Order: sequence, then structure tokens, then C-alpha cells
Amino acid sequence: MQKFDIAIIGGGASGLMCANCLSHSFSVAIVDANPLGKKLLATGNGRCNFTNVNISVDKYNTSMVKKYIEVFDNKNTINFFEKIGIPSFSDEEGRVYPLSESAKDIQSALIRNINAVHIPQNATKITRKNDFEINLSNGEKIWAKKVIMACGNKGLRELLSYFNLPIEREETMLCGFKVQSFDKNLFGLRENAVVRVKPLDFEERGQIQFRKDGISGIVIFNLSAKLDNRIKYPFEIVCELLPDISEKQLTTLLKDRCARCENLYVKDCLLGILKLEMAKYILKASKVINLERKLSQLTDKEIDEIVKNIKNLKLLCKEKYDDGQVLSGGIKLENLRDLESKIKGLYFCGETTNVYGVCGGYNLQWAWSSGYFLANKLNKDSEVKKAGL
Ligand SMILES: Cc1cc2nc3c(=O)[nH]c(=O)nc-3n(C[C@H](O)[C@H](O)[C@H](O)COP(=O)(O)OP(=O)(O)OC[C@H]3O[C@@H](n4cnc5c(N)ncnc54)[C@H](O)[C@@H]3O)c2cc1C
Repeated sequence: MQKFDIAIIGGGASGLMCANCLSHSFSVAIVDANPLGKKLLATGNGRCNFTNVNISVDKYNTSMVKKYIEVFDNKNTINFFEKIGIPSFSDEEGRVYPLSESAKDIQSALIRNINAVHIPQNATKITRKNDFEINLSNGEKIWAKKVIMACGNKGLRELLSYFNLPIEREETMLCGFKVQSFDKNLFGLRENAVVRVKPLDFEERGQIQFRKDGISGIVIFNLSAKLDNRIKYPFEIVCELLPDISEKQLTTLLKDRCARCENLYVKDCLLGILKLEMAKYILKASKVINLERKLSQLTDKEIDEIVKNIKNLKLLCKEKYDDGQVLSGGIKLENLRDLESKIKGLYFCGETTNVYGVCGGYNLQWAWSSGYFLANKLNKDSEVKKAGL
């Protein structure tokens, strides 16, 4: 019979942080069918953007993260990783990466110091008599005095259905959108733009990535994190292409080239200004016809329309892609006390809580902060108990 002081369900970012801090003072099992830290390999495009130098509460969906991040913030995170052999650097956006730019190094460093049993199975149901009983995907069971839920919130409700806790269904967050009447020729383009969504007062500059039938990229992921009930599908986003030149400058540039470039045709009017496929799209959206005319024949009205479409490119988002970076849902922080649920000994961290932040290292920071906070609390409680206080 395998019995442990603590079972950590999920060996991802938050679970590994807990295991690092707890596995030298308690007997710990990490239950996860996947190799420990596997998901970290995909983060930051394989470079693992593990925190941000500009961590602040307003980057999250709830200000209740404050208490936890104050205990273990971005500086603590950077120090922690330095101590376990990972020096880091930050880019101009404040995103922090390992110096080697290798997520694999983060994964290896987190695993290296753990003194726990890895049980390579998924937990399928958790119940409690005296101890917690954890059913595994191979039909076996293990028992633990305390359980830390660190498995993200996919299937969390079903896993914990025995306890009747207020767990919200998962929903994709930090994701792209499918676009109505999408022009497939844009597939593969990356365009710098300022993205605006009026009802949300959303305005952010970044790179839009055009997919087979929609858009993604960090700026779009951040937009997805801001959606609320002011938005109904389909909703309009307005993209200002060529954000470094004003409408007036662009108009002057086009008029000037009409006057000077005798050998160009209307179809070439955006040559060298926009990528070819985007230029074709803009001309179509601007309803410019007869593209074989000499450029000098392009009218002022047509130029105005082209400029308007470049500076206010409208896309109608009809639904989310389901391959987001984060799942919202899980248990709300207001339903936990220091990350412990109303079921004594049952704790939550990382994505099992209904916390998410914008892109840039904020989500992993939440995994580290909540994991550390929890482990610190359990270590302290145990010291108090040992000292008979
Ligand atoms: C492609 C991608 C890129 C990302 N890049 C970044 C980034 O650069 N920076 C950033 O801050 N955030 C990034 N994120 C988000 C970040 O990865 C998550 O916020 C973070 O991993 C959450 O940590 P966690 O410990 O809560 O869960 P996870 O890291 O998801 O770990 C959960 C673990 O639980 C296991 N598990 C699931 N169900 C069970 C079960 N029933 N029984 C046992 N084990 C189970 C899983 O196998 C997994 O190992 C990215 C996400 C994705 C998808």
C-alpha cells in the first residue's frame, strides 16, 4: 500500500515548484502520466518565458493574486532559478528567459533536486475517508494525508466531484480567433499593427499572425484575455497597419509615388510598402478596379480609400480557436483560504485556480508564486506542529 504525506496531482510548473520545496521534508508522490515538466518545453516557443520584470497585479484577471505574488515575486523567481543553475536575461518587453534560451534547461533544473516518487499515471478520482484516496488510470490507488491539485483545470470538476466544490468549467484563454469571410491568401503573414476593440477600450501594439482561417499572436492572445460580456460574437477588431507612419504621411507617400513612378501600375501602388498578399487584400477591400491602369491614373478618392483600409483594417472575429495557452475556470481564489479549500488538506495552485494573466511570463509566474506560497505554508505548519506550538 503506497501512502504518502503529500500527493501532488500534476507535475507541471506549479506542481514541480511545490515538489522542490516540500520533497525534502515530507514523503511526496507526484502523480502525472506525462514526463515531469513536459508542458514547459512548449512555453515561450521552446525558450520558456518564465517571468516578467514588470510583474503587476493588473496583468491578472483578479487582484487577489497580490497576496501570493508578494510572498514569491519575479525577483524571488529569478533568484530561485539562479540557485538551481539557471541564469536569465530579460528582453525589451521585460520578458525573462533562461540565458541558454532553452526550456529544456528549466525542466531539467526543476526535476534535478526533487526527492519524490513519480507515479506515471493520471489521477481519475479523488475521495476521502481518513486519508485522501487517489484512484489512478491503471486501476491502482495511492493514499495521502494531503493533496495538492496542480493538474490544470481540464477535467478538474469530474476528478473532484466527490467533494462538491465550486469548480468552474474550463474555457480557452490566451488564444486566437477564427475570422468571418477570411481571405485565405493572408495565411502565413505576420503584420505589425495597433489592434483596437472599441467596446473594450482595448488598444495594443504587436504582431498579428495570420492563420488558415483566422488570426493569433501575442497581441491577439492578450485581447482574448480581456473579453467580457460587452462583447458578442461576431465582434469587430480594427487593425492599424504601418503603425509607424501617420495617415497623412501615407497619403503623401502614395500621391508622391503616383506623380513620380511613371513605370508603375495601379496594382503596384503598395509595392515595397506592404507585403504582396496584404497589398492585394487592401486593394480589394478598397474596391480599386482596373489594376492595369498606369499608377498616375489612381484618383485621390481611391488613395484615401486605400489609406483608410490600411489604417483601419476591419476583421470580424466569429469564435475562439480552442488551442489557447491557458484555460480559465477552476476554483476561485475567494473560495480558498491560503490556497486550501473547505476540504481540509486539499489545496489548489497554478491553473487549477481561476487565475490567468496576459502573455509575457505572467502565467508561469502565477504557477511559481502559488506553488511556492503553498509549499511554504505547509512547511511552516509542520514546523509549528513539530515544535508543539
Ligand atoms: C504553447 C504554450 C506556451 C506557453 N508559453 C508560456 C510562456 O512562455 N510564459 C508563461 O508564463 N506561460 C506560458 N504558457 C502558460 C503556462 O504554460 C501555464 O500557465 C502553466 O504551465 C500552468 O502551470 P500549472 O502547473 O498550473 O499546469 P501545467 O503546467 O499545465 O501542468 C499540469 C500537469 O498536470 C498533468 N495532469 C493533467 N491532468 C492530470 C490528472 N488527471 N492526473 C495527473 N496529472 C494530470 C499534466 O500532464 C501536466 O503535466 C504557455 C502555454 C502553452 C500551452
